Amino acid sequence: MAGSSGTKFPGNIAISGATRVTGIFGDPVAHSWSSYMHNAAFAELGLDMVYVPWRVRAEDLENAVEAIRSLNLVGVNVTIPHKVAVLPYLDEVTPQARLIGAVNTIHNQDGRLVGYNTDGAGFLESLRREAGVDPKGATVMLAGAGGAARAVAMALAAVGARRIVFANRTLERARDLAGAVAVAVPSCEAHAIVLDEAVLRQRLAGVDIFINASPVGMHPAVDQPPVVEPALFPPGILVCDLVYNPLETRLLRESRERDLKILTGDGMLLYQGVLAFEIWTGRQAPVDIMRAALKDALG
Ligand code: NAP
Repeated sequence: MAGSSGTKFPGNIAISGATRVTGIFGDPVAHSWSSYMHNAAFAELGLDMVYVPWRVRAEDLENAVEAIRSLNLVGVNVTIPHKVAVLPYLDEVTPQARLIGAVNTIHNQDGRLVGYNTDGAGFLESLRREAGVDPKGATVMLAGAGGAARAVAMALAAVGARRIVFANRTLERARDLAGAVAVAVPSCEAHAIVLDEAVLRQRLAGVDIFINASPVGMHPAVDQPPVVEPALFPPGILVCDLVYNPLETRLLRESRERDLKILTGDGMLLYQGVLAFEIWTGRQAPVDIMRAALKDALG
């Protein structure tokens, strides 16, 4: 890989018989940005490794996972729609991934496939390093109750968030998730509310961190009204969006215009990748190089 520049289209990629292979399984994967940051990081550290996106259909997932062993891949990331379905095919799943109920990183440890989830920890790293916020003791509101909300909530609860309020379009899903968090981390108070303006008006007081964990505002629906009207946010709140395309969503732009602190979703994407890189290589990831490659790719 000598000579790769860490830009969108690294040149002089020298793949030999010794090159170790990582990648991502998903469907679709054409939108995946991870290859840019991982290939740039391998080049930066002079590692003879490469990252390849593979489109894997649901019916082929078991065979694809078996191929990690038979082709002796270092490991792969797993994305939509396989994060939950992949669990039964693994030899071991970390306690954190088991709690989240989803795996986004597989490591091939001498033929033994171990599943991790770096999404929640990636959000925590982004929160700490990019926003300078420690969620210990915080009251958090999450809009959404899907896979991303679950990963982030379990990670926040595990590091001592005091209260998490799930605001979701479908109340039942928010209740299920609040119940799962309460069982997993009894010290964290978990509540469920419906995503409705009148309810939000009452429940946003005292919230320290708001996180949009729904796809609202994602490209191409960039003008879609945000899940919460930013005028409802209390002063001093940190507003986070997990959507990273566009980098600054309408929710974040309008919150910033109201002088609120904001956190963009690319940080979670970056740090889940940083953690996966460190699992696969055992080396400290070149975070700045990965951030630059990601920013380059995201435009
Ligand atoms: P998911 O499992 O499909 O869950 C989506 C959630 O959003 C559900 O709770 C759904 O509510 C809610 N929702 C969908 N459309 C809505 C609408 N129009 N109005 C209000 N609520 C709506 O998806 P996910 O995997 O959790 O991902 C959610 C988003 O997080 C993705 O779009 C992605 O942009 C982002 N994400 C970012 C990262 C990162 O690294 N930054 C990682 C993962 C995900 P119902 O329950 O009512 O259907």
